Amino acid sequence: MEIYFRTGKLPSHGRNDYRKNTFYHDEAISPNWLTATEASSLTCEEVAQRLEVDVRKGLTWQDATKRRQISGYNEFSVTVEDPPWKKYLEQFKNPLILLLLASAVVSGAMQQVDDAVSITCAIIIVVTVAFVQEYRSEKSLQELTKLVPPACHCLREGTPDSFLARELVPGDIVILNVGDRVPADLRLFDTVDLLIDESSFTGETEPSRKNTDSVLRPNGAHASNTNIAFMGTLVRSGNGKGIVVSTGTNSEFGSVFKMMQEEKAPKTPLQKSMDSLGAQLSLYSFAIIAVILLIGWWQGKILLEMFQIGVSLAVAAIPEGLPIVVTVTLALGVMRMAKRKAIVKKLPTVETLGCVNVICSDKTGTITRNEMTATVLVTSDGYIAELSGAGYNDHGQVLLHKCDYPDKARDSVANLLEVGAVANNAIITDEVLMGQPTEGALLAAAMKHGMYNVADRYLRLKEYPFTSEHKMMAVKVISKYDSSKEEIYFAKGALERILPKCTGYSVNGVVQPLTPEKQADFVAECSEIAKKGLRVIALAKGDSLSNLTYMGLVGICDPPRPMVREAINILTESGVKVKMVTGDAMDTAVAIAQSIGLATQPNNVLSGEQLDTFTEQELDAAVPQATVFYRVSPKNKLSIVKSLQRSGYIVGMTGDGVNDGVALKKADIGIAMGKNGTDVCKEAADMILVDDDFYTIIAAIEEGKSIFHNIRNFVGFQLSTSIAALALVALATIMDIPNPLNAMQILWINILMDGPPAQSLGVEPVSDDVVKQKSRDTKEPMITKKLIVNVLLSATFILAGTLWVFNKEMTEDGVTARDTTMTFTCFVFFDMWNALSYRSQTKSVFQIGLFSNTFFLVAVGGCVLGQLLVVYVPPLQEIFKTEALTAWDMAFLVALTSSVWIFSEFKKLFERLLEKRCKGKKTPLEYV
Ligand code: ADP
Ligand code: MG
Repeated sequence: MEIYFRTGKLPSHGRNDYRKNTFYHDEAISPNWLTATEASSLTCEEVAQRLEVDVRKGLTWQDATKRRQISGYNEFSVTVEDPPWKKYLEQFKNPLILLLLASAVVSGAMQQVDDAVSITCAIIIVVTVAFVQEYRSEKSLQELTKLVPPACHCLREGTPDSFLARELVPGDIVILNVGDRVPADLRLFDTVDLLIDESSFTGETEPSRKNTDSVLRPNGAHASNTNIAFMGTLVRSGNGKGIVVSTGTNSEFGSVFKMMQEEKAPKTPLQKSMDSLGAQLSLYSFAIIAVILLIGWWQGKILLEMFQIGVSLAVAAIPEGLPIVVTVTLALGVMRMAKRKAIVKKLPTVETLGCVNVICSDKTGTITRNEMTATVLVTSDGYIAELSGAGYNDHGQVLLHKCDYPDKARDSVANLLEVGAVANNAIITDEVLMGQPTEGALLAAAMKHGMYNVADRYLRLKEYPFTSEHKMMAVKVISKYDSSKEEIYFAKGALERILPKCTGYSVNGVVQPLTPEKQADFVAECSEIAKKGLRVIALAKGDSLSNLTYMGLVGICDPPRPMVREAINILTESGVKVKMVTGDAMDTAVAIAQSIGLATQPNNVLSGEQLDTFTEQELDAAVPQATVFYRVSPKNKLSIVKSLQRSGYIVGMTGDGVNDGVALKKADIGIAMGKNGTDVCKEAADMILVDDDFYTIIAAIEEGKSIFHNIRNFVGFQLSTSIAALALVALATIMDIPNPLNAMQILWINILMDGPPAQSLGVEPVSDDVVKQKSRDTKEPMITKKLIVNVLLSATFILAGTLWVFNKEMTEDGVTARDTTMTFTCFVFFDMWNALSYRSQTKSVFQIGLFSNTFFLVAVGGCVLGQLLVVYVPPLQEIFKTEALTAWDMAFLVALTSSVWIFSEFKKLFERLLEKRCKGKKTPLEYV
C-alpha cells in the first residue's frame, strides 16, 4: 500500500475497485490521486476532475467515507511499537537484575534449589512491577499527543462544516482563513491575498504568496509550488480555498513531520534533576554496599548469601522507579488539567506553571465573555438611542432619547447602522453567530432597527480586513441598485483611527466640514460611553478612505465572566500579579479592570503608544508596576513580556491573534485561546484554554503547584525507605549480627518503595493550602533542607524500631524464620505508616481527609494484603522464608509502627502552631 501512495498510483475510489482488490496501474484508465507536485502543474479544473469533485459542492459524506478506506486517516501513524513481551524482556537488561539472575543460577548450581527458585520468583515480581509502571508511563505520554487535534473548515455536500483534520480525504474542499493551520496538502483554486508561512519547513521567514495559476515545469525543471498550500504551514493573511490532493504521510512534508514526531520529547528540568539524583544515590548505595560486602566477607559470612543481599539491596536502595514515577505524575497531572479545560502541550510546562508570578491576560474573551451586545449609539448629529435585548438576534428595540425630530433621528440611526452592517463579515443564522462577536453585535443592532440583509444591496469590491495593529476594518462596495456605479467606502473601528480619515460629518444626511471643535466633541462622547465599560466602535463612510464622513458611535457591552473577580483575588493572595492587556480604549479598559477588582491608578495604566516611545530602562521601570495596558498591539505584548522577564518575573501571557504568536513563544507560559484563538497562536503556545476562561488559568496553576508538591512528597517517601533499608543492613553488618532481612524480603520492600504507594502519593488531590502557597522560585532545588531533615527523621525512626524488634526476637536460639518475619513485617508496616504521613508536609492526615486519596488507600491496602499473603500463604512462605505470626504479634507490630506516623503528626502540629505565631515571618525551623 505504502508504495502505491508514494508513486501516486492509487486505484480509483469511485468504482469501489479496492473492494475487488483489482488495482489499476494504467493512468489513462483510472484517475489517480495526485502528489502535490503533479497537482501544481495541472489546472484547477484538471485537478478537480482527476479527484472527481465539484469544487462548489465538495464531496458527499458517503464518498468521503469510502475514500478514507483507501487513503486512511489524515494523520501520521505513530511509530511502530515493540510488542509488550519485547518490552517486558527489555526489563531484564538491567545489570542489577542480571546479577541477581546470575546469583540464582549459582545457587542452583550449588544445589540450593529453593534459594534459586525464591530469588527467581522475587525477580519476576520486581520486573513485572517495573514493566507495568513503565508501560503506564508510556501510555500516558502517548495520550498527551492526542490532546490538541487540529480542526479544519471543509465543504461537504455544499455546506461548510468544521471537523477534525484527520477526517480529510483527497478531493475534499478546504477553506483557509487568517491564522489557520493548513490541514493537508491543497491545490489552491481560489485565493485572496493569501500569504502562507512555510518557515517550519523551509526556514524561510518571509511568508510565501500563493495564487491559483498552474506551474509550468519545462523538462521537469524545479519550480516553486506557488499554488499549493502545504500541510502544517500557517496562513499569515488573506484567505483561500483548495482541493485536498494528499493527506497524512503522503503529504509533501509528511516525512518531515514523521521525523519530528519520532524525536523523543526533551526531558523536563525536573526529570533531569531526578536522573542526576538517581545517579548520585546509586553511587552512594554502591559504595555502602561494597563496604557491607567487605565487612561481611571479613567476618566470614557465607559469600553467596552476602552477594545476594548486596545486589538486592542495590536493587532496593537505588530508586530506579523515581524518574518513572515523576513522568507518570507529570503526565497524569496534564490529563487532570485537560479535564479542567487547560491543555498543556509539553510536560516541562507543568513545572513552570507553579513558578508563574505574573499573568498578562487579554480582556476580550478571557476576562470578559466575548458575547457582545450593542447597548447604546450616538449619531454624528447628536441623536442618542439605547438598545434593549441581548444575544445575536432581533429581539429588542432601538429606543430613541427624546428629541425634536424623531423621524430624522430614525433616518440618522439607520444610516449609522447601515455602515456597521455593510462593513461586516459576520453571519447570524437562527440566533447563531458565525464571525467576530463585535461584528455580530452591529448586525444584531441593525436587525433591531428593522434592517435585514443590508449588505446584500451592495457588491463588495475589496475588503481591508481588521487587524489588531490597525484597529479598523473597511470595505469598498458599489450599490447594486444605483446605476451610477460609484464606489463607496464603509469603515468601522476605533475612534482615533477613524476620525483622522474623516473630513466631514453627517447632519441629517448632509455632510458638514469636520472642525477641530466638533472632533473634540466626538472624542468626549466616545470617552463617556467607554467609561461605562463599553467598547466603542466609530462608523464612517465616503468616496475614499482618506475622505470619509463620520456617522457616529456604537457602544458595545461585553460583561466580565463570572468568577474572574474571585480568581484574581486568589492569584493576588498567592503573590501572582495580574495585568490586563487589551486593544480597547483606556476608559473601557479601566472600567472593566475596576469591575473585576484590578486596582487602577492613573500611574499604573499604560498605552501601547507609550510603550512604543519608552526606552528599555523606562519600560523596566513602568511595566512591572502597571496593571492595565490599553490600545496594545501584538508588538507591545512582546515588549511587555521581555521587560517583565528582565525584571526577573516568570510570565504567563495570553493571546488569540495571528500576530500574538511571537509574544506567546517568548513568554514562559504562552497561553492560547482554544475557542476564539487562531491555529497560529495555538501552535506557538505552551498551554491552551479550551473555553477561553480566565478561571482556567488558576486551575492550571493549582495543578502545577500541587504536582510539584506531590512529587516532593513521594521523593521524600522513597528516600526515607531507601535510607532505612540500607542503614538497617549496614548496621547489622557492622554490629556483626545476622542479617535482619534476606534478599527476597529486600526485593519485596523495593516494590513498596518504587511501586504503587509512591505513585499514589503523586496523585494526591489539590489541597487549598498548596494553592495559596507562593509561587516557587525556579532556582529552588527539589530537595530542600526541610525535606532532608524529614527524610532523615523518618528513616531513623524506621531503623531504630526495626532493629529493636529484631534484637528483641533474636534470642539465644539464633535467627529463626519467625525473627526475620517479625523484622520484615515491622519494616513494611513502618513504611506504610510512613507513606501516610508523607501525604502532606504540613497538614494533618485528618485535615486532608483520611479517605480523600482513593488510589493511596488501594495501594496501601494492596501492600498490606500482599504482606499478609507473604506471611501466611505456604508457597509464599517458602519463597520469602517466612512463618505465620500470631494475631497478637500483628497487633503489636501495627501499634509499634504507627509511632512513625504519630510522631510526624505531632511534628506537623508543632510547626503549624509555630507558623501561626510567626505569621508571615520565617519560622525558626526554616532556618534549619
Ligand atoms: P481586545 O481583543 O483587547 O478587546 P481588539 O484588538 O479586538 O481588542 O480591538 C481593539 C479595538 O479595535 C476595539 O476597541 C475596536 O475599536 C476595534 N475593533 C475591534 N473589532 C473590530 C472589528 N471587527 N472591526 C473594526 N474595528 C474593530
Ligand atoms: Mg480581540
